[in-house]
Amino acid sequence: METNDGVPAAAGAGPDSPASDSPAQNNTPPVSAAQDNTAQDNPAPATPEVPEFAEVPEEVHGPLPVAELHLHIEGTLEPELIFALAERNGIQLPYADLDELRSRYEFTDLQSFLDLYYANMAVLQTEQDFADMTRAYLSRAALAGVRHAEIMLDPQAHVSRGVALETCVNGVASVLAVSEQEFGISTLLIAAFLRDLSEDSALEVLEQLLALNAPIAGIGLDSAEVGNPSAKFQRLFARAKDAGLHRIAHAGEEGPPSYIIDALDLLDVERIDHGIRCMEDPELVERLVHELMPLTVCPLSNVRLRAVDTLKEHPLPAMLAAGLNVSVNSDDPAYFGGYVDDNFAQLKSVIGLSEFDCVRMAANSIRSSFASEERKTELLAELAASGR
Ligand SMILES: [Zn+2]
Repeated sequence: METNDGVPAAAGAGPDSPASDSPAQNNTPPVSAAQDNTAQDNPAPATPEVPEFAEVPEEVHGPLPVAELHLHIEGTLEPELIFALAERNGIQLPYADLDELRSRYEFTDLQSFLDLYYANMAVLQTEQDFADMTRAYLSRAALAGVRHAEIMLDPQAHVSRGVALETCVNGVASVLAVSEQEFGISTLLIAAFLRDLSEDSALEVLEQLLALNAPIAGIGLDSAEVGNPSAKFQRLFARAKDAGLHRIAHAGEEGPPSYIIDALDLLDVERIDHGIRCMEDPELVERLVHELMPLTVCPLSNVRLRAVDTLKEHPLPAMLAAGLNVSVNSDDPAYFGGYVDDNFAQLKSVIGLSEFDCVRMAANSIRSSFASEERKTELLAELAASGR
């Protein structure tokens, strides 16, 4: 299945963005699923056509141009940078050296990762620290083929330890402002709220962000999922919608399919982060396919956090076969064994994902982003011209 831009279509040959009535920042008016005839008339085939591709070494092509839609900037803190920032800020780390820190990266579940993730944030103190972290990510992401990135920042995780909201936002935003010129990566900033904290805490920080006129394009919901259902944050998401912000939420990573349903029905989200457990509910899968709902899947993250036992058992191939609008993302790449190119490489080598499916998910990522229509067209053309 190909679209007229020469790039394999997302499942259902969908519109360029999910249904939305709250364009934010520099986005063009969204296209709703209802406006898209092909979405209704041509549901995805149960098994997509997979053309034969000759094996071409990666170095001939370079990485696929993609949009990274599920990325926590704090999760890009590499061990070397953690030590460098600790030294700069005179912070005593509880690890003797890099090896000891790396030895802690064996996680048993989401919470065991979050404990280390929050502890390491202690090294982020100044605007410069946040800027250096952001620059390091963009520099590595450019090598991974990322051409557009929608970057989540956890403001509550910094405010709660005494770092001013302006410090973390300005530090990240100052680098995002020059990202397209310096790294060829267009970017948007998303304020993600910690679902294990109260909704009142999230609302307070959101109001502060709005009062500061912070350059955020949307809000997200992350951190410990189980026990903190989407339903807890209805007022937060309603406020964000009123403010013209995009809305995304982690759901169905460790939590059950009902969390995904609530994110759709109660939070009115435009994308689901992870969403892999939707596969336990055929009716939900059918709905997600019909609505062309983007699911930002993070395969290496799922393995590291034991959401799936091994990459071989990852539901991604089944999700593709079901016609879901999935993309590949790195989540917290410094902690989970790789950036988006590493995710694609592992998917190819371990589960034999075809080049066709990789291109299809790259196209999904671009179409599912909140980039301007002009930027999406540009990136899809780049993907079509990449020789795949
Ligand atoms: Zn995440």
